[in-house]
Amino acid sequence: MTAYNPCAPYVIESGKKKGKSIEQLMFTDYGWLVFMKNLLNEKSAGAKNKLHKHIEWVLAQGSSRIPKMICPQCNKKTVSFFSYLGSERFGYSMSAAYTCCDDKECVSRLSAQGIEKVPTFLPITFSSITHFNNKQDQKRVAEILKHCFGLPKRLTKEVLFTFFSE
Ligand SMILES: [Zn+2]
Repeated sequence: MTAYNPCAPYVIESGKKKGKSIEQLMFTDYGWLVFMKNLLNEKSAGAKNKLHKHIEWVLAQGSSRIPKMICPQCNKKTVSFFSYLGSERFGYSMSAAYTCCDDKECVSRLSAQGIEKVPTFLPITFSSITHFNNKQDQKRVAEILKHCFGLPKRLTKEVLFTFFSE
């Protein structure tokens, strides 16, 4: 396997996602990128094109990003999980305020904030986006990721390329 080290973001040049970079799609169309990766894997007979390589690279880099936000429960370690409450039918509630590190005590403290309901926990990773089917819920997860990774409000192609390159 040869290493792929891009020096610029990959910008989609046609279709519905025209003008967006692959890096930006990690936050808005994560499921599509995974779908594309699988599709390209099936289609390519050995040789991978640039799009294929770039999608693989961004997905791999994405899975190794480490949150910067400090756990709101203990104020010591960085966050690892977010919790959510709700249902598919009535929607889910979640935010960067309901996050914690991997300490058992912090997990149970956050769990207790659900009052009479027990929240579910998910890791602060891109793959948690596709845990939800609804676009609004997926957007909420992307907002949590953005916050926890310490990214600015506006996710420009340059900002995200640097983020995924590090
Ligand atoms: Zn903690």
